[in-house]
Amino acid sequence: MIPTIGMVADVTMRKNSFADYITDDVSEAIKKAGGLPIIFPTSDSKYAEDFLSKCDGMAFLGGPDVDPTLYDEEPIPELGYTYRQKDELELELVRQAYAAGKAIFGICRGIQVINVGLGGTVYQDFPSQSDRKVLKHFQAAPLSVTSHHVNVMAGSHLEKIMGDYPMVNSHHHEAVKDLGNDLKVTARAADDCVEAIESMNSDQLLAVQWHPECLYTKYPEHDALFTDFVNRVKKRMQDVDAV
Ligand code: MN
Repeated sequence: MIPTIGMVADVTMRKNSFADYITDDVSEAIKKAGGLPIIFPTSDSKYAEDFLSKCDGMAFLGGPDVDPTLYDEEPIPELGYTYRQKDELELELVRQAYAAGKAIFGICRGIQVINVGLGGTVYQDFPSQSDRKVLKHFQAAPLSVTSHHVNVMAGSHLEKIMGDYPMVNSHHHEAVKDLGNDLKVTARAADDCVEAIESMNSDQLLAVQWHPECLYTKYPEHDALFTDFVNRVKKRMQDVDAV
């Protein structure tokens, strides 16, 4: 059976409301890697369990900032727009998917949602809140090209996929701050900004701060993130079948 990959749609703002949408890049990257995407609309978090029952793995995508009151902070002026209902659904999906042993992949906002879902915090605005001189993490060039390096931790799962010093694109002002439970940092930029996290003792979870879906057609090492994800989903499906 083709593995099914659940993901909550991204959201855009209309004049008086939000609207779910999905660009084709992540879906196409997952299909190329051998998975079948299933898009969930933003919904009350009570639907998380039913949504999860429809998919073998979960991807958490780019999108708006995470509502800081969900990790016990009040919003600072530099915070972008937030959408609490989407946050609550995705935080619940993170917790349930992780507890259920499903393979998880995070992209950009996804790394933040995963970290907060597992008890961590994020910088609402890394450039103004970091006590270091920061890199340009909001590149002016299109996301189809790379702009800064990341240092990947030796022995990490990410190192097996991308090597120890890949270039990535960058389109974020939030960043992971305090780590959630059972997570480890496996890549940082030169300014110490967290660029990738993984589950502590398994390959169940990998999340990156950049946008590989904008790079996978031209850069094999970014395409490899999607292949790895679908393979992690398949491996866990076999493990479940074997029980
Ligand atoms: Mn970056």
